[in-house]
Amino acid sequence: MNRDLPVIAESLWHQADFIQAFGKASRGAYQVNVANGWWEDRNAIMASGMPSVVPLVVIGCLGLVQSEASEAIEAARKQPQGAWGDYLTKDTLVRELAGTVVRCMDLATRFDLPLAEAIVEEIKANAERGYKHGGKAA
Ligand SMILES: [Mg+2]
Repeated sequence: MNRDLPVIAESLWHQADFIQAFGKASRGAYQVNVANGWWEDRNAIMASGMPSVVPLVVIGCLGLVQSEASEAIEAARKQPQGAWGDYLTKDTLVRELAGTVVRCMDLATRFDLPLAEAIVEEIKANAERGYKHGGKAA
């Protein structure tokens, strides 16, 4: 296949730049949530040492990610397209997308998951998969 790949898929410099900036933003998002008390109960539950409690906390956090994605769906359904990109107004499509990403940042930072690196790998993998990833319907 002979097609242009996005710079993020080919340039190590751009990948490192993204990883550094996204990581810094992710740590900021996590710090805000810690300061707002959102990790107090979760950390206490995980400190109990009960089996399976850490995955249960993670699953709960993923529910919040899913909730933000659902709010994005509602925004896409109910708002005029012209309002979707209004990033200064709460509850717009772009703000709900942002909420989804921020929840992912928070979760990944708490568990030292290299989310930025994984995003780069996903983009690179998708860039190599070709048109409709080899014939998938959607
Ligand atoms: Mg929201």
